[in-house]
Amino acid sequence: METQICKAEGEALRKAAALIRAGQAVAFHTETVYGLGANAFSDEAVLKIFVLKGRPADNPLIVHVHPEYDISCLVDGEPPYAEALRKAFLPGPLTMVYPSEGKVSKYVSCGLPTLAIRVPSSPAAQAFLKEVNLPIAAPSANISKHVSPVTAQHVFDDFNGRIPLILDGGACAGGIESTVLDCTGTIPQILREGLVTREMIASVAGDCGVYRAKVGEKPKSPGMAYKHYSPRCRTAFCTTAEEAIAFYEREAAQGGAPCILCESALLPTLGGRECLDLGANGETMARRLYALLRKGEARASLLIGIEPKERGGVMAGVLNRFTRAFGGTHET
Ligand code: AMP
Ligand code: MG
Repeated sequence: METQICKAEGEALRKAAALIRAGQAVAFHTETVYGLGANAFSDEAVLKIFVLKGRPADNPLIVHVHPEYDISCLVDGEPPYAEALRKAFLPGPLTMVYPSEGKVSKYVSCGLPTLAIRVPSSPAAQAFLKEVNLPIAAPSANISKHVSPVTAQHVFDDFNGRIPLILDGGACAGGIESTVLDCTGTIPQILREGLVTREMIASVAGDCGVYRAKVGEKPKSPGMAYKHYSPRCRTAFCTTAEEAIAFYEREAAQGGAPCILCESALLPTLGGRECLDLGANGETMARRLYALLRKGEARASLLIGIEPKERGGVMAGVLNRFTRAFGGTHET
């Protein structure tokens, strides 16, 4: 199969919609990362997503809809705080988990009595969703456990020859996946941190919890249990420049190609060594992280990550991805 990259407009949108109706998977731009979408009503199309990605069968998918789509036909009721959050943050990088049974293919939520819904703000995503006029089940458009894609080329690198079409909307402005918010309880609870922060949610809903699976407990958001976002080279997780330099020199002495990924403030202390600049604030770090992990894996034998010191706002989401990419143990 030939994989085409097309700008998300005109004929390409019509082709994407026809492919979705025919049960195929299509990759599309969103404001967070690229998604790999299929018709949420079709068992076969949804199963295809799991097979293409090599995704564990217990890791549910997020359903994407156009802002004009009436989500009341997908969910079993909505608490008042969820309505307020929806009005405040959608369209945007917030996924809301509602009580829902039997509305879409049973494979979307992997047997959970809930459904995760997202309304993307990306014009390219909205154009696609409007044209297809169906709820689209879509995880990130990467091979499972690999780094999420933030350009059409990243999707192509993972799926060349295996999907027919990538709807190109340019580089993703957000850069990390949406915040996943459980809206089934008395207060909202974050299952995965992202660009819509706990502070932002609490300012609208009055309160917001952050879910942490207890040791031995099956997590509420199964995706958070897996090794994730991993570059395809060896990695080292460090908390100081000194540690990183020690790893770097050892790798260089053995004839390897080390590279350090760190926040801008540390670059002057690294003395001209091969480095990738993550940036100086949370939003920049979120936007650059995945592109730099992919750049790093292409050029380095050992990619050394120094945990950023920046805190607050979107850093909870950035640190979560950073730590899991490098196999560290940071708790956000
Ligand atoms: P991805 O689309 O690859 O970014 O992954 C989707 C994330 O949303 C994973 O962490 C899933 O576990 C989570 N998710 C999707 N549906 C549900 C649901 N019904 N309940 C809880 N978490 C969900
Ligand atoms: Mg993913």
